[in-house]
Amino acid sequence: MRYIDPHIHMISRTTDDYARMANAGCVAITEPAFWAGFDRSSPRGFYDYFRHLTEQEPARAAAYGIKHYAWLCINPKEAEDVGFAREVIALIPEFLDRPNVVGIGEIGLNKNSRNELQILEEQIALAAEYDQLILVHTPHLEDKLKGTKLIMQAIKANGRIDPGRVLIDHVEEHTVGIVLDEGFWAGMTLYPETKCTPQRAADIIEMYGTERIWINSAGDWGPSDPLAVPKAQREMARRGHSPQTISRISFDNPRAFLSACSKFDCSDGAADA
Ligand SMILES: [Zn+2]
Repeated sequence: MRYIDPHIHMISRTTDDYARMANAGCVAITEPAFWAGFDRSSPRGFYDYFRHLTEQEPARAAAYGIKHYAWLCINPKEAEDVGFAREVIALIPEFLDRPNVVGIGEIGLNKNSRNELQILEEQIALAAEYDQLILVHTPHLEDKLKGTKLIMQAIKANGRIDPGRVLIDHVEEHTVGIVLDEGFWAGMTLYPETKCTPQRAADIIEMYGTERIWINSAGDWGPSDPLAVPKAQREMARRGHSPQTISRISFDNPRAFLSACSKFDCSDGAADA
């Protein structure tokens, strides 16, 4: 079954992963800017990272018939140094017109610190100024609920952002309800063992339905599975969910959300089984 993986860090994955994803039905991906596993030594490191996300990676994906889109930002983990973060933010506007850039992300919070919040607010303002979609990273474990609330407050406080143009990712059982209630979109990140597994994602769908919700792999340099989305599709089929329901959370919903950016186009991938 065709699918979109709207959150995967292909810079950390091999070309074999592209081949396996294409074989499993992947037609498009979006790749948020994130922490590289180490702190960059200079803001110029982000300049080359943004070039990678907008030049190199789309070409690598295209070789396997997968459309590649990107989100740009400085991630919360490197936002503690406000001066450094502002130098990175200043690089972003010149990349926003590139053909595969769909928005600002993954912005958010990591430790819920004051400096992280300051840079989050400035990147929300950047998205408002340039009319960009937003992809949000929420903290893990005990910081998740508090961080999710802080992020939603910051977006609302900006006053120029439509929650329907914001996807809040890494939701779990205790945060998905408040995210959807506030009008945002919710992303479930599938991890092989910890956090949200394909089984738990299926549980959440059964509790909260399929409105404004998607699944993604967040595949990166750590323990993660670039085929998590097709595995969740199979888990849902095993439980008796209809092909329509499975397609909704793994293809139709991400396509609907991302199509708010006119650059996103999944029409060539429409030939489906
Ligand atoms: Zn990520």
